[in-house]
Parts: sequence; structure tokens; C-alpha cells
Amino acid sequence: MTKVGIIRCEKNEQRCPLTSGFRCMMETREAFQIYESVMPIGVFTCRCPGDSVVELAKILKAKGAEVIHFTTCTFAKKEDKGWSMERGGFCDHIDELIEKVHRETGIPCVKGTAHLPKDYVPRQWT
Ligand code: SF4
Repeated sequence: MTKVGIIRCEKNEQRCPLTSGFRCMMETREAFQIYESVMPIGVFTCRCPGDSVVELAKILKAKGAEVIHFTTCTFAKKEDKGWSMERGGFCDHIDELIEKVHRETGIPCVKGTAHLPKDYVPRQWT
């Protein structure tokens, strides 16, 4: 069982209760298909410009998270034909944030949760 922490973006927190994300964790689908089973450890919301994201990740790690996933909405948008990375997502520097979290906490990170864009293989920082 893999213990997973989630960091989501404040720009989506009033609209998305992470329903698909939790379902995918339970069913080990989408970005969670790399695990045999998942135990959600907790969810934090990043706030612009992301200065506190390392501290949030440290808390998730202290609570037992073995890996942190960053929500798909940070780098992709829902279009007519499904989710796409063409126009980006809510965050224009999500890769830098994830890199910083990984570097400063040592915790593995994965870019993506539910409703992954077609052909996107979740990038991992291990
Ligand atoms: S820094 Fe990026 S991920 Fe964090 S709240 Fe702002 S846009 Fe969202």
C-alpha cells in the first residue's frame, strides 16, 4: 500500500472537491495506476506564488506520505475533446515547484492525478 499526499492549486479549490482524484486513488487508475493500492494521507492547497509548498510537502511527509502527487489541473485544462496540455493549466511554473519540493524534502513527486491528458505519462521525480 502506497501512502499518497496530494497538493492541489488554489485556483481550483472552490470548484473541485477532488472527487475523480479520490476515485482514481481507490481504483488505482490514471496517475495512480503505478501502485498496487493507495492510502490517501492528506490534501493541501498551494497558494500563489507557491512559497509555502515545500512546508506543505514536509507536513505531508511527516504524516506518512511516501509520495506526493500534484493535481492535473495545474498543467492541463479541460477542453471539448477532453483534458489537454496544449494551453497549460492553472500554474505556469508547476515543474519548478515540484522540482523544489523534491529537492528540499527528498520525497518522490508525481505530476498528475486524475483525468490525465491523452498520451500523457505522468512525470516522476524519484
Ligand atoms: S503557485 Fe501554481 S500551483 Fe500554486 S496556487 Fe499558484 S498557480 Fe496554483
